[in-house]
Amino acid sequence: MRVVALPMKTNFRGVTVREVALFRGEYGWAEFSPFLEYGDDESSLWLKSAIEAATSERPTIYRTQIPVNGTIPAINDKSVIKRLIESYPGVSTFKVKVGENLPEDIARLAQIRSLGRKIKIRIDVNGGWTVDQALTNLYAMYEEVGPFEYVEQPCSTVEELRELKSKIRIPLLIAADEVIRKVADPFAIDLEGAADILMLKVQPLGGIARSLAIAGHHKLPVVVSSALESAVGIGYGLELAASIENLSFDCGLATGSLISVDVATLPIEDGAISLTDLDIRLDGLDVAPDRFEWWKNRTMRCAEKLGI
Ligand SMILES: [Mg+2]
Repeated sequence: MRVVALPMKTNFRGVTVREVALFRGEYGWAEFSPFLEYGDDESSLWLKSAIEAATSERPTIYRTQIPVNGTIPAINDKSVIKRLIESYPGVSTFKVKVGENLPEDIARLAQIRSLGRKIKIRIDVNGGWTVDQALTNLYAMYEEVGPFEYVEQPCSTVEELRELKSKIRIPLLIAADEVIRKVADPFAIDLEGAADILMLKVQPLGGIARSLAIAGHHKLPVVVSSALESAVGIGYGLELAASIENLSFDCGLATGSLISVDVATLPIEDGAISLTDLDIRLDGLDVAPDRFEWWKNRTMRCAEKLGI
């Protein structure tokens, strides 16, 4: 195992340096990188995914290029937004940060929309709105920018999502993320009438096999997304996306652009990232010995939870 610290380009959810543990098994490099504040129960699923990556044969794949979306943070300067969009070659779908200030959100969405009708806009609210807030905000945004591709977790619970879908009078696709990722048993929840799309994140959901099983159980179209991972973790997300037979949405696997020094490069070409053998370079990225110790102990505790 190696533990590396990757400097970020900008502060993302309070993180300026991303620590990830990497280890190698007979099937290649694997990443174990739950955020530092995550507890062992939640983190053990991330370890399950990493162990699968290092020790299992890859599933059947249906494609070698995965179309991706770009990300627009909470900024409103039109020239900065334009430059950001251009930094994702060939990408036509953008996930836009909203939810903190409605007039500014609407101004941001309108700026993006003014750059071209062909840009598909998706937003992620991380469960931040009540049903009433979601109705007010989504109507106001719809009036300004027209239909969204989809809205990720406008409200936090399945019941609220269902109520929102039954009440709203504009076309709206809802993507479920936290409601399947932050529950003890994602097979036990009923998304009927509450969600139209499933977000699949390979590490938090415990690997490719379990992610595919969750998707198969809920019978919804999926978007494969990352969890701010190094190129190793992103590479595993790309393999999950490649193994899904019907992939009709661009995937959120271009978050490597938020990291300034990564362990390998995964360039975006023509709006897609290719599945490739990674040329891993770890020199100079190792953490201090006390941080390595911390990750080693965390790994051992999570392994114990998995019964290893
Ligand atoms: Mg989300």
